[in-house]
Amino acid sequence: MNTKRTFLKSKLTRFVIILLILANLGLGIPSYLLARNELEKKGQVILENAVHLALEEIKAIQLSVESGALSLESAQEKIKTSLIGPLRPDGTRILNTPINLGENGYFLAYNDEGYEVMHPNIEGDHVFNVVTPDNKEVLLVQEQIRIGKTGGFFEYNWYYPNQVDIGRKMSYAKYEPKWGWTIVATTYASDFNKSAIRITLFMASIFALTVLLALTYTSAYINRLLHPIYAVTESMKNINSSEMRPVPEPAENDELMDLVQGYNGMLDSLEHNIKSLKDRKKELRKLAFYDDLSGLPNLNYMTQHFNTQVDTHSASGHFVLLDIKSFKIINSLYGLSFGNDIIKSVAQKLNTRRPTDDSIVTRLSGNEFGVWVPHSHENNILDWVDNTKEFWKNAFYEKRFIVNIDFTVSYVETHGHGSNFESLLQKNSIAMQYAKANDLDVLKYSNDIYNIFEQESTLKIHAETGLSADEFYPVYQSKVLTHSNKVLGVEALARWDSPVLGPVSPGAFIPILNKTKLILELTERMIGYVFSDYKALVYKYHPDLAVSLNISPLYFMSDNFVEYILGKAIEYEVPTDRIILEITEDVFIDNIEDVNQKIDILRENGFKISLDDFGSGYSSLNYLQKISLDEVKIDKSLIDDIVTDTTARKLFYSIVELIHNSGYTSVAEGVETLEQVKIVEESGCQSIQGFYYSKPERL
Ligand code: C2E
Ligand code: MG
Ligand code: MG
Repeated sequence: MNTKRTFLKSKLTRFVIILLILANLGLGIPSYLLARNELEKKGQVILENAVHLALEEIKAIQLSVESGALSLESAQEKIKTSLIGPLRPDGTRILNTPINLGENGYFLAYNDEGYEVMHPNIEGDHVFNVVTPDNKEVLLVQEQIRIGKTGGFFEYNWYYPNQVDIGRKMSYAKYEPKWGWTIVATTYASDFNKSAIRITLFMASIFALTVLLALTYTSAYINRLLHPIYAVTESMKNINSSEMRPVPEPAENDELMDLVQGYNGMLDSLEHNIKSLKDRKKELRKLAFYDDLSGLPNLNYMTQHFNTQVDTHSASGHFVLLDIKSFKIINSLYGLSFGNDIIKSVAQKLNTRRPTDDSIVTRLSGNEFGVWVPHSHENNILDWVDNTKEFWKNAFYEKRFIVNIDFTVSYVETHGHGSNFESLLQKNSIAMQYAKANDLDVLKYSNDIYNIFEQESTLKIHAETGLSADEFYPVYQSKVLTHSNKVLGVEALARWDSPVLGPVSPGAFIPILNKTKLILELTERMIGYVFSDYKALVYKYHPDLAVSLNISPLYFMSDNFVEYILGKAIEYEVPTDRIILEITEDVFIDNIEDVNQKIDILRENGFKISLDDFGSGYSSLNYLQKISLDEVKIDKSLIDDIVTDTTARKLFYSIVELIHNSGYTSVAEGVETLEQVKIVEESGCQSIQGFYYSKPERL
């Protein structure tokens, strides 16, 4: 709002002036009117007394007339001379009356006919019908004569002696019966009330003086009154520049003191609030940049620190990620608070055992720590990682158990040019994921790792859509009876023709599907495809044909597997004893008892079980004794060298023997040459699956 500003001081001054004027007018006007009234009353008394005196004088002189001492004319002339003054030759009279009737006062007399029988200037004039100059209806002479009969006052307006202005005249008239004269004493009211104006003027000067004094005092008083308000206003202006200056308290205990005390109190609490706000800000900064549990700087801190380093100097060095291995298990075994103790202890030790003084240790997430080592060499980083790993072996004791702490470590090197922390962390996270997925202890980020990661991620994304878009389908590779070309069975193998990536080999997509659990869906789809192909396969080959299906360990151990495959077999009318389920050794990583139980159920329902890729793992020999199988497929890696390497050949022979001794049928996988076929035949191995006989092909 842009209203005109008026200062409080001028407002108050104006108010006081108006008040003084009103007070003086309120006092002055009635006083003036009162004085005027009183003076005029006095005037009336003078006029009345004068007329009575004149009548007494006339009465006295009438005695002389009656005694004959004086003629009537002389007596009347004597009276006129006495009451007005001696006659001039022009008929007017010199005003020389002994009775003071005011400055312009004089006596006059009318006779009953309305002639001026006594008058200073117009004696002898007939004035009976004279009217007042401002009101023609007032017949002043007739009125005076009428009032004079009983004696009384009459006021009227008449010219001042200058004959221009009109003034109020007062008169007293009384009739003298003997001569038939109406004696009138008259004068201007102003002759009597003049002093009222003088009094008023005097009062006005006193008033002016009072106003002057009052204003001087008022100004000083207002200044004093407003001073605390000005001081508060001034202090308030300074608050903006964060200066909290309290206002000195006024001397008098009044509302202004309350104001100043209130204001100072407000400043105090403001100061207090600002201080606690600052403290809170500090606290919030701490929360935003430091990890609550470990007290270490957090991701925000590290990001800001690194990015300002890039702006100022070149931020070259290594960024190391340390992920506590099996932390979830530690948490589950020993409880969350013990897990927290480990985090705190690891945080503290990493911080006190930093690779260099200018390194920064941060806690990035749950069990993941980041260490920024500026201007460092890779060898030093690797030494530090070794020492750290060594230090944490047996470093923790809980309930008399030793808790081994180990880390998966990944690191990335930066030369600082144009890098930012986000991309550095992203690279390192890729390396960390890769290391964990491939069970590596320490891994340096490289473009190769990035490419693999990217490839895998791309595969995963396209496999997801590919599964729902039916891009996967089965091909079949035959398994033939040794010494003859008879096809005993076929193995269903998954193929994927991606419209984006082209044909992708199982060697590339099976591991990704395994990692992402998409393998569950693929296995179910393959079961469906193969069962629906079953009748056509039998028709193509012969009624006793066995069809092999690869069942991934993850799917094998899933709860609904048995129910699902049985349901599908019924749905497609597939005889279960013509279906061979191929499992691999990794399935035994899970509880072998559970696996056995499941195998028993499947076999009870007619399915055959084949152990695939036998010989590619470590402890295969054990499993042959512990589980009930129907067939064992000897891995291609054991076949590859049987022609050229006698040791490999001997190993192959003994494996075939072992399989037969265990009561299972044998299959040699990946047989590519006639030489290999001959050796397989010599070994007594019952069947062969390999390119030598057939490649996997569509139905
Ligand atoms: P596998 O089950 O051992 O299948 C045999 C693999 O050896 C097939 O590779 C087959 O094409 C290949 N092979 C057979 N004879 C020869 C040969 O003489 N020379 C050479 N070089 N290779 C031969 P493929 O089809 O690439 O499959 C690779 C693996 O992918 C399979 O090994 C199996 O473990 C997995 N796999 C394929 N299809 C499926 C499936 O539907 N489900 C599951 N869970 N795994 C599958
Ligand atoms: Mg197989
Ligand atoms: Mg195999």
